[in-house]
Amino acid sequence: MTSPLPLGSTIGIVGGGQLGRMLSIAAARLGYRTIILEPQDDCPAAQTANEHLVAPYDDADALVALAKDCAVVTYEFENVPVEAAIALNAKVPVFPPPAALEAAQDRVTEKTTLNAMDIATAKFVKVDSDEDLIAGLEAFGGNGILKTRRLGYDGKGQRLFRNATAEDAKDAYVAMGSVPLILESLVPFEREISVIAARSKDGHVEAYDPAENVHRNGILHTSTVPASISDATAEAAREVARKILAGLDYVGVIGVELFVLPDGSVLANEIAPRVHNSGHWTEAACAISQFEQHIRAVAGLPLGDPRRHSDCVMENLIGDDILRTPQLLAEPDLVLHLYGKAEARPGRKMGHFTRINRG
Ligand code: AMP
Repeated sequence: MTSPLPLGSTIGIVGGGQLGRMLSIAAARLGYRTIILEPQDDCPAAQTANEHLVAPYDDADALVALAKDCAVVTYEFENVPVEAAIALNAKVPVFPPPAALEAAQDRVTEKTTLNAMDIATAKFVKVDSDEDLIAGLEAFGGNGILKTRRLGYDGKGQRLFRNATAEDAKDAYVAMGSVPLILESLVPFEREISVIAARSKDGHVEAYDPAENVHRNGILHTSTVPASISDATAEAAREVARKILAGLDYVGVIGVELFVLPDGSVLANEIAPRVHNSGHWTEAACAISQFEQHIRAVAGLPLGDPRRHSDCVMENLIGDDILRTPQLLAEPDLVLHLYGKAEARPGRKMGHFTRINRG
């Protein structure tokens, strides 16, 4: 057993969005302080953390200050510059390990890493020109999804091809911004699920039940637990998470998104080396939320029991959905969580709620 961070220790969090906010609340509940590193002034996490370093994520002075004041540093988004994480890690433990960031930031590296762990994914080819795309589409029978390798999220930077010809592929590379791309074969999935799992410093792993996810306009809409999958599929999904956590010598919570095929087998789509939107239901339907689980892991505390006490559906509040707040608050067995964002822009995640079903 590793010794836990003493009470009152400070945990650094790179990134100041809603995930950082919820992590800082969980840290406070366990008796820890938090410092956020986030260039944006009035960010959701700054409202709940003890301190806010207002600086770019790769600002050398800010990183030195963060390392000096924190016993451990974590992050709430996967596009933290890897060099910054490595520089920090030389001075203070950074969890999850920077290698997990590296694996998650580039879709080709991610799939290559997963395949090397014997985890199945969609077939894929690198695309750095229209010629690469034409060859890839030919190999995949004219069907595929073209994605940017880096910095894509919530379905941004993607183009779908169905029964495509070489003519359809013309100019696609430039239209996607002339950046490194990946073409993935089109997966005929029956449903999308995710597993939220955690690994402690001493290698203990706990996984929550898989959630079934529905997206709208490329953004997560609902996560339903239990997912409509067999026990064997749920176990296969958990096993994928366990392999990734062990393979990366991981510490903290990870989100693993998977496709479920008609035969019940799973393909891994994406990993998020952080707490994940599709795990927000855990704050309402489990004794230990994914946020507390992550803080426990990075602080060297024993992991909590991930079992859920209720079935539930989590729904995101996007943009003007926040106007539903009064009606939602009137519902019994509904847990609402808002992120403290003043302006409700279209497509902006403003909060979420979880309806629990006590059966
Ligand atoms: P991603 O950004 O990789 O999470 O993709 C966004 C969404 O596009 C996923 O949640 C799926 O609904 C869909 N999608 C992504 N990749 C594939 C694929 N290879 N085959 C079929 N659908 C996909």
